[in-house]
Amino acid sequence: MKSKYLHTHHPVKAKWISGNSQGWKAMCEARSDTGNHISWKISRGEIDFWFENWSSLGPLYLLQPDIEGNILIKLNTVYNNSVWNWNSIQGDLSEDVKNKITSLGVSLDNNVDDTAIWRESNNSLFTFHSAWNIIRNKRSSNIATGKKWNCAIPFKMCFLTWRVVYNRLSTDDQVAKLGINIKPGCYCFVNNSLETADHLFYKGNLAKNIWQSIANSLGVRLIQNSLKLLLLNWWNTHTNNPIASFIIQAIPPIICWEIWKTRCANKFKKVNPSPYRTNVNILFTLLQIMRRKFGKTNIGETWRSLSNIFYANIHQHISNPVK
Ligand SMILES: [Zn+2]
Repeated sequence: MKSKYLHTHHPVKAKWISGNSQGWKAMCEARSDTGNHISWKISRGEIDFWFENWSSLGPLYLLQPDIEGNILIKLNTVYNNSVWNWNSIQGDLSEDVKNKITSLGVSLDNNVDDTAIWRESNNSLFTFHSAWNIIRNKRSSNIATGKKWNCAIPFKMCFLTWRVVYNRLSTDDQVAKLGINIKPGCYCFVNNSLETADHLFYKGNLAKNIWQSIANSLGVRLIQNSLKLLLLNWWNTHTNNPIASFIIQAIPPIICWEIWKTRCANKFKKVNPSPYRTNVNILFTLLQIMRRKFGKTNIGETWRSLSNIFYANIHQHISNPVK
């Protein structure tokens, strides 16, 4: 299965698409459910630098949203002979993050294998019982209706949304908890406390602007109470047809992804945030995903054309991908 579906990509980037086997689908789903509960105790450093959770900052590729899944670099390539070799990472990390990583005091031991730590059991060992508890809790909790794990949406976006909802993203408040000094403030310039996921994705100026403008364009009613309620309400919006239903499912992970990209571009590359640009990127990403899923179905290229779909009488057969 690995050579058939994964090629040289890291499992984090794996996804199921229509036509792949059901076994592969189950593995992709289990990965979504359980991957966030695994971290690594480093010894040999044979694990992936970008995609494994070894640094206490979470998987580093989340700090660098544009990193490609086919860049596979072992930790012991980057940290070699007790020196961090930053030229080898084929991506960019801010000086801040590099300093944090350096301060972790990593030491490699060539005689011992790296150990995966399953955070949901007392002895760090994976058990099906504890994994099942996670999946069962997920299914029974309101927020996790499973809609955000739609396989047509890139896994990186779903994974990020999962981390937003469960507050497992390396926002400033989380990084500060590790004892790292962070200057308060955020890119929407109205906040003098530490950046939080809630502020970034829901309460902050940019997030508010994006959620509101897209909800207005599509005629979706926004409930403004908390991010979880907003998502729950969004995903429960009634739609008339399968294409509108897909749009409703896809938009939250795309919004979270583009907000995170805007935030990282501001934090690490000093690019000024622009609600207009973020909005255009969200539309562009949504249209790309929809063309992949619905093929040549005429969906137009604007929010207005998408909102027209909400009132159209389209039948189920159109939801089959055109190959
Ligand atoms: Zn702000």
